[in-house]
Amino acid sequence: MALIVQKYGGTSVGTPERIKVVAERIKRYVDKGDQVVVVVSAMSGETNRLLTLSQALSSQPDPREIDVLLSTGEQVTIALLALALQDLKVDARSYLGSQVKILTDDAHGKARIKAIDGQAILSDLNGGKVAVVAGFQGVDHAGNITTLGRGGSDTTAVALAAALSADECQIYTDVDGVYTTDPRVVDCARRLERITFEEMLEMASLGSKVLQIRAVEFAGKYQVPLRVLSSFEEGPGTLISIDDDTDMEAPLVAGIAFNRDEARVVIRGVPDTPGVAYKVLGPVSEANIEVDVIVQNVAADGSTDLTYTVHRNELERAQEITERIAQELGAREVAVDGSICKVSLVGVGMRSHAGIASQMFKALADVGINIDLITTSEIKISVVIEEKYMELAVRALHTAFGLDQTDQQAS
Ligand code: ADP
Ligand code: ASP
Ligand code: MG
Repeated sequence: MALIVQKYGGTSVGTPERIKVVAERIKRYVDKGDQVVVVVSAMSGETNRLLTLSQALSSQPDPREIDVLLSTGEQVTIALLALALQDLKVDARSYLGSQVKILTDDAHGKARIKAIDGQAILSDLNGGKVAVVAGFQGVDHAGNITTLGRGGSDTTAVALAAALSADECQIYTDVDGVYTTDPRVVDCARRLERITFEEMLEMASLGSKVLQIRAVEFAGKYQVPLRVLSSFEEGPGTLISIDDDTDMEAPLVAGIAFNRDEARVVIRGVPDTPGVAYKVLGPVSEANIEVDVIVQNVAADGSTDLTYTVHRNELERAQEITERIAQELGAREVAVDGSICKVSLVGVGMRSHAGIASQMFKALADVGINIDLITTSEIKISVVIEEKYMELAVRALHTAFGLDQTDQQAS
């Protein structure tokens, strides 16, 4: 007997028929004698539909009310799934985040889980029931409903698995595992049998939305065995492995992540004096705008250029702030570009191998792609390029680093 937390994403519970298939899968585990806790997302498209409704009524919506609104999506699916399970004679009971309870901080829209009270769920499990928990939501100390950020049901599942000391956390989605890159962009992407936490963390933070980054952080911190699987077909999925892959034979590049949400701000001709980076970027971070890549050029004639990237949604605010600072500093100009993207190679194998960066730059040059910015860390190399070349870049790199699925592997 095992205690398993299963999470089903939006597409997997997108229709009554799909919910029925999910209920049947849960029943198979229950019939085997496993204890099952299920976390569900809202039906696919529902969270976006709710957001659009709010936009029709408010230009600067109150984050508290947005959380009240968005959390309703998951309230629908927990009840529907509990009903479907009961119809199959599986004893099931649904829980909102506030009923569990999943205590978070009060950062509406991006709340962090602080504690989970697993008592009610454990007594359900001991009584032979399946607990169906609403993903993506919690409650703060004052009783306000909070949400965990887009894709947050993954985090609910992993946090519950940690709190209940589950044997495994299974993330069921619309692809059958973690691939070398998004299989919807590259046809010949290959499913990985396993990927290390470190690599998965980088992939998630660099744009692979198959798992929410906080879910991976949680799983690493609390050593939760985590697997990504398809809710549409049977298969082994991908294990996010806890052991660091010290295998010398490890492939250099595990995967390619990309992110089209980036935008770039350049401030040109700022005086090259101590404190300039702080003067430019301090007000940006005070405005709670997350800055990603930062590059400062070597100074010439006593002045320099500073470039940084932010999420595209924040570009307007970042531009406003930077233009104000530019005036104060007597900078020459501020230029912005909202149509860039970031493409990254990720792999723990990079640590012990030189020359990957040049191989990457050559592969991009061979298809005529100009690189705008470059950043590296121990296990990743990212380039910022024009958005219109994103798919071309990902495909070229996928082939250049030997990641393409061969027909033999596919069969
Ligand atoms: P869910 O609704 O189940 O949470 P998501 O849409 O959040 O599903 O995540 C699954 C999607 O992640 C896939 O449909 C796929 O397009 C995308 N994806 C991006 N990168 C990868 C990757 N490296 N491996 C697998 N899927 C990926
Ligand atoms: N329903 C939420 C979203 O669409 C949470 C999730 O699906 O994980 O982002
Ligand atoms: Mg998701």
